[in-house]
Amino acid sequence: MGKKMYSNYNKRFEGRIALVTGGASGIGKATAAKLARQGGTVVIVDLRLDGAKAVADDITKEGGNALPFAADVTDPKAMAEAVAFAEKKFGALHLAFNNAGITGQSGLLADIDIDGYRKVIEVNLNAVFYGMHAEIPAILRAGGGAIVNTSSILGLVGEATAVGYVTAKHGVTGLTKAAALGYANKGIRINSVHPGYIDTPLLSNLSAGARQHLVSQHAQGRFGTDEEVADAVAFLLSDRASFVSGSQFVVDGGYTAH
Ligand code: NAP
Repeated sequence: MGKKMYSNYNKRFEGRIALVTGGASGIGKATAAKLARQGGTVVIVDLRLDGAKAVADDITKEGGNALPFAADVTDPKAMAEAVAFAEKKFGALHLAFNNAGITGQSGLLADIDIDGYRKVIEVNLNAVFYGMHAEIPAILRAGGGAIVNTSSILGLVGEATAVGYVTAKHGVTGLTKAAALGYANKGIRINSVHPGYIDTPLLSNLSAGARQHLVSQHAQGRFGTDEEVADAVAFLLSDRASFVSGSQFVVDGGYTAH
């Protein structure tokens, strides 16, 4: 009996088809691998096919089930095609992790350029809308499921020199709540995840000084790992989170606790 429970838990995404954006790197890659290890079938969406394919190939080598799909998340048509690909190849879509993102230009508001601001809003916020716009009808067709959108600690608190990023991530927080309210009684749970600073390629340009300062802002005195965020996302996408809807799930080593 105990054994059976564990094996059910280990394969909790069996029969579930998931789409992960930004799946070629960092948090998306770790989450795609986790979903696949726990029985899920994953469509890895990313800008570059080779990056998405490398992750899908690794999953397949481990005995999991995944296919790559190249799409720019800021292109609503490409996102509709990614969802159609999942349905065509695997028969349905149940789960989505809208996670692709960029850091955007750094500087005080009047010093950042308009195009840079527009770009980060397009990738980090509008693309989450485009993603859900395509995913929700498919998840309804599948009989229900769950969505997680990647916000950030900067979707909850400000940072003077990350104006576009903070604006986009606060937008994701609100967009997630509105979507969750619209579909809570239709069988789709929608939540946002709010990582603190996580060691991924996204932070590769941080100077040693900036890194040290940012580390000190986390009560636990370190950055997080992509695995630690992936664990939270997998929980939110799983049936274990059956009463979690419209929530902001913080994974930040205490950053926002002060
Ligand atoms: P990452 O390692 O850079 O992964 C992001 C992935 O998204 C990359 O493969 C990137 O491709 C892809 N991507 C970027 N723009 C895209 C587009 N327009 N269409 C499709 N794919 C695109 O970053 P990460 O740290 O895992 O970040 C994932 C998410 O977590 C982001 O939304 C980020 O804002 C958020 N987040 C990260 C941290 C952190 O400290 N790392 C903290 C809080 C929140 P390319 O590499 O080719 O650009």
